[in-house]
Amino acid sequence: MKEMKKFKSINLMDNKGFWPEKAALIDAIKDILSIGHCEGQFPIKDFGRFCSPQWRDDEGLLVPWQSVDWYIYDSLDEERMQVNATTLLRNLTNEPWRDERLMGDHYDLFVLEEDLFLPDENGGPGYCVGACKPFSSAIISSHRIEHIWGMPYSCTKTEIMRQLCFMFGVPSHLRDDVLKRPDATAFCSNMCILREALNAPKDWEMLTEDRLKEGALCESCMDDLRKFFLSFEHEQN
Ligand SMILES: [Zn+2]
Repeated sequence: MKEMKKFKSINLMDNKGFWPEKAALIDAIKDILSIGHCEGQFPIKDFGRFCSPQWRDDEGLLVPWQSVDWYIYDSLDEERMQVNATTLLRNLTNEPWRDERLMGDHYDLFVLEEDLFLPDENGGPGYCVGACKPFSSAIISSHRIEHIWGMPYSCTKTEIMRQLCFMFGVPSHLRDDVLKRPDATAFCSNMCILREALNAPKDWEMLTEDRLKEGALCESCMDDLRKFFLSFEHEQN
């Protein structure tokens, strides 16, 4: 299998377009680049609440791929009134914009206000706060975090930082201090924001307190993140 390119632009999308989510998004990216010692320019393009001029057809229906609204609508489970994270990630990964003649390969980082869920045959909590497809896309829902009065900015920032790391392949599956889940996700087992979090908002409050007190990542995850940014040099040569 062809290895996916790692140095490519991060395209931001959201369906709220206002603070504090936007500040959390920008600050989370800055912190991750700084912790990872990412030198130089990492291309970031902000599409905001993306909506092309052809976003609706003559009958007023949403045209596929042409707006943030369509991505949400197409992934919405109307019975649960929650966005299906698997469908949304699949749409972002398979979108026609990734064609080299259009936008080309990129990362998508999408912050939405709707509630998210991951289809899980074993039950699970019935919702998720964030999900990602490594080296492709990450999605973060502010829905559950918004209920933490006074803390939405820092908890949203924590989750965006987590999903950015997961999207960059951190923590590495090769380490023996990570928890591997059957769906191939890996979580850190050290004092680190990349630990597993299940219960919102409680677990995000805890991770955020730890982040502010102890720093975001443990030594091993910082190493993994730095290796990820160093790997860009090989690609560019
Ligand atoms: Zn860690």
